[in-house]
Amino acid sequence: MQTQLPAQGRSWGELQAMMAEMRTGDLDWRHGRHAAYIWFANEEVERVAREAYGMFMVENGLGLRVFPSLRRMEEEVVQMTLGLLRGQGAAGHMTSGGTESIFLAVKAARDWARIRRPQVLTPEIIAPFSAHPALNKAAHYLGMVVIRVATGPDFRADVKAMAAAITPNTIMLYGSAPGYSLGVIDPITKLGELAQERELWLHVDACVGGILGPFVRQLGYSVLPFDFSLPGVSSISADLHKSGYTPKGASTLLFRSKELLEYGRYEFDDWPTGLYSTLTFTGTRPGGAIAAAWAVMNFLGEQGYLKIAETVMEARKRFEAGLLKIPGMHVWGKPDLWAVAFGSEGYDIHQLGKVMLSRGWVLSPVRRPPGLHLMITPVHEPVIDECLAALAASAAQVREKKVTGSGMAIRY
Ligand SMILES: *Cc1c(COP(=O)(O)O)cnc(C)c1O
Repeated sequence: MQTQLPAQGRSWGELQAMMAEMRTGDLDWRHGRHAAYIWFANEEVERVAREAYGMFMVENGLGLRVFPSLRRMEEEVVQMTLGLLRGQGAAGHMTSGGTESIFLAVKAARDWARIRRPQVLTPEIIAPFSAHPALNKAAHYLGMVVIRVATGPDFRADVKAMAAAITPNTIMLYGSAPGYSLGVIDPITKLGELAQERELWLHVDACVGGILGPFVRQLGYSVLPFDFSLPGVSSISADLHKSGYTPKGASTLLFRSKELLEYGRYEFDDWPTGLYSTLTFTGTRPGGAIAAAWAVMNFLGEQGYLKIAETVMEARKRFEAGLLKIPGMHVWGKPDLWAVAFGSEGYDIHQLGKVMLSRGWVLSPVRRPPGLHLMITPVHEPVIDECLAALAASAAQVREKKVTGSGMAIRY
């Protein structure tokens, strides 16, 4: 039977109980036994975010003219983000997430190139193999083509190979800071030089690293530049709902200049109401996502983000050190931030993932190279040792072939 609207509305008490029951089968993310999907700073930040979101839940970010509060908060969020990414003279706006930011960057690059090189009918984007699927999704919707080039032995973008892949139809280069799967940052400086030399648009996907990455650098870790201090960078996507630790539905798309930002705009005039003009893919935008992002960023401030950066980087170092003590295990590449992927010699890493799952640890698989992935956030810090112990026990189990079957329950 199909679910139908209840004839009589249910009470909030009843609904709350139903929803609490429904979520008992969900991922238990509060205790750090997961690898992805969740960015949670702490309960204080959660409270601020919830209150701020609720305060502006009904307001609509499409109507900035009538909600000067949202206009101001969005502008301030963008300015704070540009400050982190050294974007003097740069411009930007908020979007609903990384996928929308990337979509709009690709759209802007396409329209920018259309004016300069109208003879290009099917524009091409050159990206490393490690680029997020959102890039292909965008290109697919926009009638463009992505050429993925194998990464180097360090799993970073191979800039020489990318240069060799450029054709007369190429309009855009793409790099990540860091890539989702292995957590390594592409050589953006070199990609920027190539972009300038060949007059191409360079988009930096800093969906993961854009907000917290600069704080990791501030702590003294070597984090190579991936921001507007590099003259070849045209646009950057930096998610707030990832390492900005704000509620979901919040990302930023930043452009080197106001002029480049305008290529992202869509305008339409031929309907009863007249001019409809937006910089986003979405029309109606949740005021709550804007307000909560503003509130969380101001609540955490530099000191708050530095503390998170310190926690997750220490946790990653501890995790790596412990991992290397487990026979056969190794880290793939040299992760730059808090995302790490590891593989194994002599036994199947995905079998190990399966055993971990049976022990209540939900790790994400990486297919090429074969590995498991972990995005370390503050909730992981207290359980690093427990996780390592589970990994050691699971590895022993796999080595002794005490596992049957294959595959993993979770797919990204
Ligand atoms: C998550 C992610 C995206 C897509 O962002 P959504 O917010 O999921 O739409 C893009 N690039 C990278 C590197 C990501 O990790």
